[in-house]
Amino acid sequence: MRTRLLAMALGWLALTAMQAPPATPAAAVSLWRLDCGEIHVSNLDVFSDAFLYVGQQKTLTDSCYLIRHGERYLLWDTGLSGALVGTSRDDGPFRMTQRARVRDQLARIGVRPEQVNFVGISHYHFDHIGQAADFPGATLLIGGPDWEAIRSREDIAANFQPWIEGGATVQTVAGDPDVFGDGSVMLLNLPGHTPGHHGLLVRLRGRAPVLLSGDQFHFTEQVRNNGVPSFNVNRADTLASSQRLLTIADSLDAELIIQHEPADIAKLPAFPEPAR
Ligand SMILES: [Zn+2]
Repeated sequence: MRTRLLAMALGWLALTAMQAPPATPAAAVSLWRLDCGEIHVSNLDVFSDAFLYVGQQKTLTDSCYLIRHGERYLLWDTGLSGALVGTSRDDGPFRMTQRARVRDQLARIGVRPEQVNFVGISHYHFDHIGQAADFPGATLLIGGPDWEAIRSREDIAANFQPWIEGGATVQTVAGDPDVFGDGSVMLLNLPGHTPGHHGLLVRLRGRAPVLLSGDQFHFTEQVRNNGVPSFNVNRADTLASSQRLLTIADSLDAELIIQHEPADIAKLPAFPEPAR
């Protein structure tokens, strides 16, 4: 009996060790915020299915992030189309602009596209996938249901030619994959905005863990008043995922960064400085 209890306790410890990310990553981790465009919204109504923001305007930012782990790189989200640089595009309440391509920003810190090992995509919307094809040698990390959706839609699939036709590697993910194997960078399964939507947990040595929101929230007010966009695929899943993300922020004492929130840009050092 005692042996069985000991085995159960050891089993529980092993499971706990597997699930809780370590306090210190195995390799040095750096995190850069990249400018992936700007989206002026002339009416925020679509960001709530409960009429919370009718008639309000806001300029959202569009953020991508580069994570360096030892000598390996993960690019998290790829922003608006690179073809937008120097021009603008209107679509319903949205006006999109873009200052510089991701690959040109990476050149400023000496990182070439072929050095990027992984491209992680939070979800399949146009403002997160625009420049993925600039990194055709990277392994694509994306939620399984989102990958299925991409393959069935020609307009979106065009952004993923290297992985659909070019033989580049796709890793469809379920749950919370640990990208570098030491718990320092994990995708977090947050379905609801899209069926395979994910956020990203990044643990650095010199500061509190960072939680990149994906589009779980688009701006701070949505956290306070549970704003669920009317274009989300599942309301109940969205609310459950919001609760999960905020609980993780509490339990890890992590800093939540809303990728589209202009006020959250200042939570990380200004490019080209990384957080470490
Ligand atoms: Zn977005």
